[in-house]
Order: sequence, then structure tokens, then C-alpha cells
Amino acid sequence: RVRTRFAPSPTGYLHLGGARTALFSWAFAKHHDGDFILRIEDTDLERSTPEAVQAILDGVAWLDLTHDEGPFYQMQRMDRYREVIASLLESGQAYYCYSSPEEVQTMREVARARGLKPRYDGTWRPEPGKTLPAVPADRTPVVRFKTPVDGVTTWNDMVKGIISIANTELDDLVIARQDGTPTYNFCVVVDDWDMGITHVIRGDDHVNNTPRQINIMQALGAELPVYGHVPMILGPDGEKLSKRHGAVSVMDYERQGYLAEGMINYLARLGWSHGDDEIFDREQLIQWFDGSSLSRSASQWDPKKLNWVNAHYIQNADKAWLAQIIAPRISELGGDPGAFPLEEVVSLLKERSETLADLAQASMLFYGEPQTPDAQTLAKHVTDASRAALIAFLDQASECSWERASISALIKQILGTQGLKMPQLAIPLRLAVVGTTQTPAIDAVLEILGKKRVMQRLQTFLS
Ligand code: GLU
Repeated sequence: RVRTRFAPSPTGYLHLGGARTALFSWAFAKHHDGDFILRIEDTDLERSTPEAVQAILDGVAWLDLTHDEGPFYQMQRMDRYREVIASLLESGQAYYCYSSPEEVQTMREVARARGLKPRYDGTWRPEPGKTLPAVPADRTPVVRFKTPVDGVTTWNDMVKGIISIANTELDDLVIARQDGTPTYNFCVVVDDWDMGITHVIRGDDHVNNTPRQINIMQALGAELPVYGHVPMILGPDGEKLSKRHGAVSVMDYERQGYLAEGMINYLARLGWSHGDDEIFDREQLIQWFDGSSLSRSASQWDPKKLNWVNAHYIQNADKAWLAQIIAPRISELGGDPGAFPLEEVVSLLKERSETLADLAQASMLFYGEPQTPDAQTLAKHVTDASRAALIAFLDQASECSWERASISALIKQILGTQGLKMPQLAIPLRLAVVGTTQTPAIDAVLEILGKKRVMQRLQTFLS
């Protein structure tokens, strides 16, 4: 059974790169009818915060990347890590190292001076026939993993293909600090092993950790997962995506009015493709996401494309649902969402909206106060003929049944009787009822505003 995991460190918000990694891991598990596990890597006590944990939980919940197990917290698994460290010490696959940090620093400098990779020199590494130095009385040791001295560590990366690293490139990694706490790479391995992870999909900033993790996995006799390292996301300027490029926190996109479905669709296309398909839903993604067609090169964040995708989801959203999620945004802008038939409002305006924020803003056409047009605009559009037409419209409005079709018929009838063209009545009507020259179809706008309000505003306008 396929088991994947998303293993964020809670040191900030859930950023776009993390969300995409989570999405890929989730989609891959779901494609195989497998399990998706959420694990919070909170061992960095200085940088981890409860707020950041919450931000991660909120982010995955918003995107609806439901986990089958977890969240697991590494801080709650300390006993287990210590137990595994003890067993590695026991079997001779790890050892106590008493070198002081200063000594290790010197070793690294010596190696560097010789043109080698800076590394620990193996002073405390036990070897058959080797005599170790006397244990200094006043020093607490760290625990180091006994990395194989020769051979290569190789894996077939889901994204990048075969990767081989000579073991001579790898240090004897510290797996427990002086205070006994396990180190990052070690916890990841124990977790992936214990949790039965079959596919590790993560950012390619972890490629360097993988050979170390594989060696530890092998020492533990664990079955190796398949690794897949996804290239990073770049900003439109080709630099690593960062705050300079706008929001990088997933929840900021929620606040800005992106739909989870739009976000999912857009993120899935960053570094993965299915032919030329641009618009596809979650189910489709699960069906297609078999781990192939993952891009080896970095992908570029394209806000215009995101807006285009999001606009698609807004236009195709169910109007009752849209009305429900837009209501709080209208309140925030000072409108009373109950004042007009909100489903009609969103149906009329969604065509032009890329985000929910746009849609809420556009809705203020109804919920806000009418604007005050300037004298020049008025002089240009409200001629004597137009004024007469407005008066005729007001006169007959009370008889009108006030549906879009009957309003439209009334307008046409007045245009016919008075020999006018559509803009000669439609624009003054707009100016009279909302104060702008442009709105969606005037008959629809008038219907939503309601007869009473339209008549009042016309009266005020004409007086
Ligand atoms: N906790 C790591 C991070 O946030 C991810 C580790 C992993 O996926 O193996 O970058």
C-alpha cells in the first residue's frame, strides 16, 4: 500500500512550495488508493511555534488535503528516537564521539586546507584493531552514525532520475547531540521507517540529506522508500520565490479571495503536467497523478495564470455557495449582504471577477452608496432628451412587474416612442441609480436594486 507524508517544519506559515509538496504527496497517495500522513517536524524548539503549527493545519484544511493519519509531532516521539539510537550504539553502527566542537572545527579546517571536503576525521570511530583515545573525564559525547567508508549511495529519484553520491563525500553524521536530543536527519529516518512511508516526495533542497538518510535506513534494516525531489518554485523574475514577489503564505491567498479549487489546480500545474490540460479538478488530478511527468526544472510562479485559473473556478461556482462565501466579505466592506438577492448579484458579477475580493468589491455597486458623478459627465450624458426619457421611465415604473424582461421591454418601449438609442437612456439610468456610466446589463442591475430604490433614486436625481 502506498503511503506518503507531508512533513513541514512549523517555523512560519504554510508557503506555496510546501503546499505544492503536500499536494503532490496527497495526490500520489490518493492515486494509488493509499494513505497520506501529516507529520509536524517541530524539533527545532527555537524556531517552531504553535501559531505556525496552526497555520499549517489551516492551510492543508483550506486546500482540503485530508490526511489519513496524524498529525504526528516529532517532539512526542523523543523516547522512540532515543531507543533507536541506543540500538544503533548497541549494534556498533553508531558510536560516541568525544571530540569537542573546537576539535571538530580544526579537523574541518585541516581537511579544507588539503583540498578535501571539510569533515570529521573519525578519531572516535571504532574500527577492528584500532585503539581509541582515552575517554576524557569531563566531556559529554555526541553520538555519530558510522557511515560506510566506501561504495556509493544511489537512488532512482522519481523526479530527477538516478542520483549517486560517493560515501566518502559523507561525514559520520551526528545523530544525537551532547544533551541526547536526536538530530533532524535521524528523526526523519526513524519516522519514515516507523510510519511505513513508501514514497518520500519533498523539495529538492533535501537532496543532500537523502544519501545520509538512506545509509541510516540501511543500517536499521528498513525497506527504502522511493524518493522524489521536486524542484523549487521561482518568482516571475527567475529568483527563488519570496515575499518580494507578493504573498507566499497559502492562507494569504485564501484571504485575497482565491478558491481552494483554483489554488489546487494552479499549484498542480507547477512542476507537473498532463498534456496540455490546464483546467482540471481534484478527482481528475488524482486519476492522472501517477508520479510521472514531474518536471526536472524549476517552475515559475505566474500570478496572471493563477488569476485566470481562479476566475474559471469563480465563474463555474454554484451561485448559492458563492453567495454564502462572499457574504462576509461584503459585510467587511460595510454592506448588508441581506439587502439584495445575493445569488443574483454574484451571478451577474462573477463573469468579471478573478478573485472573491474582486467579486465583493464589484458587489458594492449594489451594497455601497451610489457614487456622485461629476458635472462634466452629467452634462455629457444627461441631455434634455435623456431627461425626458428618464421621466417617462419613472412614470411607468410603478406599473412594471419588475423582472429583467419586463424592465428591458419598458426601456425599449420608451426608446421607441421617443426615438432614442439605447445609450441615451441606459447611461443616464446608470448615473441616476448608481452614479457610474458603466455597469453590467442595466435591466439586470435595475431588477436587483429593486423597484422602490430605483424610483427613489430617480426622483432624487431628477429633482
Ligand atoms: N521538515 C522538512 C521541511 O520542512 C521536510 C522534511 C522532509 O520532507 O523530509 O523542509
